[in-house]
Amino acid sequence: MKLIAGLFAVSLFAAEHLTPVEANIVRNVEASVAESNALLEKIVNMNSGTFNVAGVRAVGEVLRPEFEKLGFQVHWLPMDEVHRAGHLVAERKGTHGKRVLLIGHMDTVFELSSPFQKWNMKSATVAGGPGTSDMKGGLMVLLYSLKALEATGTLEGTNITVFLTGDEENAGEPLSISRGAFIEAGKASEAAIEFEGGARSDGRDFATIARRSASHWRLKTTGIEGHSSGIFTERAGSGAIYEISRILAAFEAQLKEPDLTYNAGVIVGGSNVHFDPIKNTGTAIGKSNIIASSAYATGDIRTVSDEQLKSVRAKMQAIVAKHLPQTGAEIMFEDKYPSMAATDGNKTLLKVLNSVNLDLNMEAMEALPPSRRGAGDVSFVAPYVDSISGFGSVGGGAHAPGETVDLSRQPIQTKRAALFLYRLTR
Ligand SMILES: [Zn+2]
Repeated sequence: MKLIAGLFAVSLFAAEHLTPVEANIVRNVEASVAESNALLEKIVNMNSGTFNVAGVRAVGEVLRPEFEKLGFQVHWLPMDEVHRAGHLVAERKGTHGKRVLLIGHMDTVFELSSPFQKWNMKSATVAGGPGTSDMKGGLMVLLYSLKALEATGTLEGTNITVFLTGDEENAGEPLSISRGAFIEAGKASEAAIEFEGGARSDGRDFATIARRSASHWRLKTTGIEGHSSGIFTERAGSGAIYEISRILAAFEAQLKEPDLTYNAGVIVGGSNVHFDPIKNTGTAIGKSNIIASSAYATGDIRTVSDEQLKSVRAKMQAIVAKHLPQTGAEIMFEDKYPSMAATDGNKTLLKVLNSVNLDLNMEAMEALPPSRRGAGDVSFVAPYVDSISGFGSVGGGAHAPGETVDLSRQPIQTKRAALFLYRLTR
């Protein structure tokens, strides 16, 4: 009860700062809370693990008519080529204000094989279920902010593309196919808004205007197989396992800097080694008295900028090249998510958002430090368009059974998103 009273007070106070149209948008959001939660429950109960392509498509079919009702042209972009369900794209053309791209995803990390499948209320305001906050709740924030604009006649004339991917949790490869059309949509827009989970810390909301890049490295070392009694001699050298250990220890000791992380996730080495870099799995057969002939390791790198990524890769190369006697090593890098830098354009979007927060009598939001936010779909378009993320649901435990959404925060996030969209599209 205390919470409801608090929300009510917010709307009354805020009315003083909002234009009559904006106050009407807020009222529409408040009136749609039950409907929004019911639709959320419905799609949470539909399994849409990334690899359950039928399930992802089914969620798309539930959402399609919702966007069509709002005057969007909707089409499904199949991704059979990369063994994924595809993307739902809804567009409306107009000339009012900025051309806006709204970003979300329909898939979750919970496949049909997961024991975590159904919506369940944990308390009066907290619901558990797969994808509740990552990010089916965010899809509701996106949809119901558009509905509030439509209901107040303010969607008319806007230019908005909604792009909901079906494989955010495990993007199809190559990315040029699975994210090609998405990147084009980013290039054609002037502002991109992502509805991934809202970031909350110490009771305060944060906006995301920078995210780190995520990419992979793969290391292979070689040595001369031979009897262990010869190890470290000029003839036999140090072997592949000492060489890979030297390299990883040097990474750990020499490369640390702010906002940079590099993990080693898998290692395998010995005399008869098979390593599958796609599945990140391998086997090794060796003996304690045989010098290892090969070793593999893989890991990731996360950086705040392309410069930082280039620089750390160069340093890794230099470390790799200093071989121990009679060993060889090579490292390969593979791009995944580019970094989203805190550009002036992104900062301007945050200013607009904070004007909304001020007028809703909500606390100003600061930018979340990029080290605290993983890469996401918005990262693919951020090099081309002013971008901001974190408009989605507030919840907990994403990517683990027990994930929750705080339903009391849904109308707050939706009002914020609706007024932000309204102001961008004037
Ligand atoms: Zn997500």
